[in-house]
Amino acid sequence: MNSSHLSWCLSNISPQPMLPESYYAGMCVASSGEKQFYFLVSKGWLIYLVTAVLIPAVASLVVLYWSLNKWGKHPIARSLVHYALPQSGWRAVASSVNTEFRRIDKFASGAPGARVIVTDTWVMKVTTYNVHIAQQQDIHLTLTESRQHELCPDLNTPVQFLTIRVSSINPNVKPFDIRLNSTEYGELREKLHTTVRNAHNVVIHQSLSDMFLDTFKIQVELNQRYHLSGNQELEPCIGCMQIAANIKLIKVCREPNEGECQQCYCRPMWCLTCMGKWFASRQDQQHPETWLSNRVPCPTCRSKFCILDICIVC
Ligand SMILES: [Zn+2]
Ligand SMILES: [Zn+2]
Ligand SMILES: [Zn+2]
Repeated sequence: MNSSHLSWCLSNISPQPMLPESYYAGMCVASSGEKQFYFLVSKGWLIYLVTAVLIPAVASLVVLYWSLNKWGKHPIARSLVHYALPQSGWRAVASSVNTEFRRIDKFASGAPGARVIVTDTWVMKVTTYNVHIAQQQDIHLTLTESRQHELCPDLNTPVQFLTIRVSSINPNVKPFDIRLNSTEYGELREKLHTTVRNAHNVVIHQSLSDMFLDTFKIQVELNQRYHLSGNQELEPCIGCMQIAANIKLIKVCREPNEGECQQCYCRPMWCLTCMGKWFASRQDQQHPETWLSNRVPCPTCRSKFCILDICIVC
């Protein structure tokens, strides 16, 4: 995204337009004498030569224009400048994008020609010739379309693709569409700070683990709460480090000495989502219908607990 990247890209693409001229020169050398003269002026070859010279010339001029003002005229730089503070310029925005792009917790999906990337601050769509970029804090997301593909060679189930329109309240940022598989929708929602408006009430086919996570959360919400004593403080969840830990395991399903569940003495260390993921990961993946009724070990002390023993800290 910085000027060294840009010049690297250009150095890779610029030699190719010179191929037609070389071909023309080669053909001139190959033909001889009078024949060579007719070859040189024949209409088709003149058009060929003009085109072969014009295209690289125009391309070079465009690149020259982009490079003005230290690449400030490049389309990517011009789209970034809408987010720049007056004193910092587009380079500061580019470096923020670069830093977040390098993080492993970004959401990335789609084929190389239409990649969707969501970081903590940015929503991006990278196509072969274009980069669309919008800042999370000023966008509205609308689920506009869903398409079902019945035949997918790898899977037996139909695949659903969702189209989400990203519109920014910033008038300089044109709206753009992102497409993704419905099974990635849960992961995308986790990364977004805003909700996706489902304008046409599209039924989303979530992945099995996302569906489980929704049921798990509803179930845990019904359980009894754990009241934090005054001097205790909640640390960040050790699973995601994103939000405060808010789950305490207390054996409440049976009397203390009855049943398979055991009392866990760990302090709250996990958030509800991470605990749900852990709960699902320790189950028989072939039989999701048994997941809610099974017992799993505490991720830290290994004492067994069931869904009734998961208490939200308040
Ligand atoms: Zn967590
Ligand atoms: Zn424990
Ligand atoms: Zn239990």
